[in-house]
Amino acid sequence: MIGVDIFGLPADYARIGSVAEEHDLFVIEDAAQSFGGQLNDTKACSFGNIACTSFFPAKPLGCYGDGGMCFTDDDELSTVMESLRVHGKGDHKYDNVRIGINGRLDSLQAGILLAKFDIFPEEIELRQQVANRYATLLGPFSPIKVPSVPPGATSAWAQYSVLATDEPQRTELQNNLKEAGIPTAIYYPQPLHLQSAFSSLGYKKGDFPISEDCARRIFSLPMHPYLTAEEQKKIADVIGNSDK
Ligand SMILES: *Cc1c(COP(=O)(O)O)cnc(C)c1O
Repeated sequence: MIGVDIFGLPADYARIGSVAEEHDLFVIEDAAQSFGGQLNDTKACSFGNIACTSFFPAKPLGCYGDGGMCFTDDDELSTVMESLRVHGKGDHKYDNVRIGINGRLDSLQAGILLAKFDIFPEEIELRQQVANRYATLLGPFSPIKVPSVPPGATSAWAQYSVLATDEPQRTELQNNLKEAGIPTAIYYPQPLHLQSAFSSLGYKKGDFPISEDCARRIFSLPMHPYLTAEEQKKIADVIGNSDK
């Protein structure tokens, strides 16, 4: 089972874990968006058998190119993953025991990540403040549904995604924001079961109505640690005025 910590909030690993146990399944945490988030005192990237995160620039801890990391507390898996990362190496570099990949993290990217990692806890705090301000500013505009975080959880706020009432309203809001010079994005316009890549599974429109409904209504507002209160006020004003 792959739990996806969508938009920065870790999935419900207590429930995922009990299903996995019942059916003897291996759990992977897709923590590409949740590095920096947590559930109670447990940090994202420590759920499941292994966890994977991404340091792509758009992620909470972004480098300036491509990067990522795998996590496990299983020594055997750790040895296998390390081997896979280095062309399938065995005990020494030129003894290949399997077919691997070249998965080096570029030194330049690593240097950038180390410098950014020092201020990362502070940036997570700032992202939370930005999310709180959005919730306060947008809460009164009932046509927009703002995201919530369950008690005890911390989101890394990779994205701040809201739900419009319906597709035409989303289009209108996005257009008005665009006119005001405010970028938005739709994550994600197409649910997994309607992706061509999975057509062989035989799912059709209507099979997952909640996913389909969200895909029609969702869009993301600007989110980064350095978004100012004034900028957020401007964004909220455009949304508020669209509603009149
Ligand atoms: C970005 C992202 C990935 C992929 O990250 P890469 O750096 O492209 O490997 C996987 N899952 C989710 C949920 C993501 O947001």
